[in-house]
Order: sequence, then structure tokens, then C-alpha cells
Amino acid sequence: MSWSIRIATVAGIPVYLHITFVAFIGFILLSGWRTDEGLTASIGRVVFVLAIFGTVVLHEFGHALTARRFGIRTRDITLLPIGGLARLERMPEEPRQELWVALAGPAVNAALAIATFLAILLIAADVPLSQVLLERPEGIQGVARDFLLINVALALFNLIPAFPMDGGRALRALLATRFDYVRATEIAAALGQGLAMLFGFWGLFTNPMLVFIALFVWLGASAESSMVSLRSALAGVPVYRAMITEFHTLHAEDPLQRAADLVISGTQQNFPVIEDGQLIGVLTRDGLVKAVTEQGLTAPVREAMSTTFGVVDPREMLDRALARLQEAGSPVLPVLDGRRLVGLLTSENIGEFVMLRKASS
Ligand SMILES: [Zn+2]
Repeated sequence: MSWSIRIATVAGIPVYLHITFVAFIGFILLSGWRTDEGLTASIGRVVFVLAIFGTVVLHEFGHALTARRFGIRTRDITLLPIGGLARLERMPEEPRQELWVALAGPAVNAALAIATFLAILLIAADVPLSQVLLERPEGIQGVARDFLLINVALALFNLIPAFPMDGGRALRALLATRFDYVRATEIAAALGQGLAMLFGFWGLFTNPMLVFIALFVWLGASAESSMVSLRSALAGVPVYRAMITEFHTLHAEDPLQRAADLVISGTQQNFPVIEDGQLIGVLTRDGLVKAVTEQGLTAPVREAMSTTFGVVDPREMLDRALARLQEAGSPVLPVLDGRRLVGLLTSENIGEFVMLRKASS
């Protein structure tokens, strides 16, 4: 995601901070600032913000590490003010697996809430529990109580049965054990949009923040629904019907100048690289730009091409190919019939194919 700062790599997964999240933390720190505040209070607030930040990271790792158990890798985790976003390479197809992956996030918050509750029992042994929870004492007990409540709130919010919340995915997974996947998604999305309407309407009279959340839920639900119906529209169509068959290829020893000329004079952005009639690499537009910046236009294509790339068979179905394309993280998939290069597949091309099919039906 652009406008993100990489802060760490944990368990092989890069963690990014979105610039809006940094601004959000700054806002929290500044808005509570008072000149008469003691140093301990200031430090306490910073520690508290960092604890919430850690909570969001752990929630996302709950999803990512559960997905890993089912053989699904996570491309990265980004922290946004509305929460975290773990980008899995694909969603599990088995409903039971999707259920576990979805519930793992809120389960992390529930576990943190229980641990904090036990800690409060220990550190506030002399104060009645109801007083800690209701009256919010000063000091460490009050901080622990806030942390507990935030984790309970995060668990409950994420369990709202509407896309794009975790609860929406869990609901779809449950429905998918009885209905087919597209139908299950439609029902879960409709429920999500119904809830969003109620939230939004209620928010109009109470809290404008609710209207904002409702809009976010509404958009998430409709995006998920159209993504799944797209996938099902592609399910019965073989790759060769939607692939690009008119394209340029490059030779490994061609100068980058040739690729640059082709990018400018035509619409092709990514090029297969051929040597002795065999596909040996792919030169993407990003790879080209990077190599030209570093080595100039006379460097050979060989230096700039990527030699690890996915391929697809022309008889494979488009829904699988689209998933492969997204998984590969590359803008193009070469289509190989045996060892012969017969076409290129890009997600824009699949999009155009779907659009024309809809228009002609
Ligand atoms: Zn989650």
C-alpha cells in the first residue's frame, strides 16, 4: 500500500504503518496534552497508545498465522486508523478454514481481555472489582481497565456479522456450509448492508462517527459481493478465450531502449523475454523503470527481467488464473501451451473480457 512506512518484519511478514495511522497517534497524543501534566502521565499515555497499537498488530497476526496453518501466506500487514489489514495471498476455499481464519482475530482480543482481567484481579486485590471497572481509579489500575474495555470493544466490533468485518466472513463461512459460495456471500453482504443502513440512520441522530462507519461497512459489503460474483462468472471460462494474443516479445540481449520504445509507442506494459524460442523471463514496467534509473537505457533486458514468474495453461479456468495472478503479485501471467508461449494474461484484460461478456448477454 502506498503512503506506508515499513516498521518491522515479524514471522516473515512485513508490517507497515500507514501515514494516516501515524497522524492518528500524533492527534491522540496532542489532543490530551496539558502543560500542567506530569512526566509520568505523559509517558503513561504514550505507553497506552503503543499498547493499543500492539493489540491491532496481534489481532492481524491472529488471522495471518491461522491462515499459514492452512498453507496460505500473508503478503503484508498494514495498520490504518480504522484497524489493521492483513493481505492474504488468497482466501481459504474450505468454509471451515475461512471460519477459523476470521475468528482468530477477535479471539486474540478476547484472550488479551481475559489476561488483563486476571491481571486486574492480581494488582487490585484490595479494591473491589466493581470499583475498578465502573469508577476508573487513577494509575495502573485505571490504565489496565481501559485496555480491558478496548479489547472487549474491538472483539465485539469485529464480530458484527457484516462485511468487511471478521464477523461477516465468519457468517459467510457458516452459510457456505449450506448454500453455494456465491449465494452465501450475497446473503451475508445483504445482511451487512441492512445493518449499515440501520447504523447510518441511527448515527444521523446520535453520532456522525456512526455514519462514517456505516458507509465503510456498506462499501466493504458491496465490494466483497461483486468480487465473488466476478469469480463465479469466470469459473467456466478457459484462459485462451480471454488472453492477449497480439503482443511484443523481447530478447535477453536487447537494450532496455527497445522496451522503453515499445512502452511509449503502444499499450503493452509487460514483456515476455525469449531465448532460443523459450520463455526465460518477464520484464515488467516497474522492473524497466527501476533498471533504467539505475543502469541507463543501454543495459540489456537480461539485467532487468524477473526470472521467477508464474505461468498458466490456456485450458485452465479463468477464476483459478485470476487467483494465481493475484497470488503472484505480478501484473502479467505468461500463458504456456506445453513450452510454447501462446498468450499473456493481465487482470485488466480479464476485466475487459467480463465487461464485454456482460454487454453482449
Ligand atoms: Zn480482523
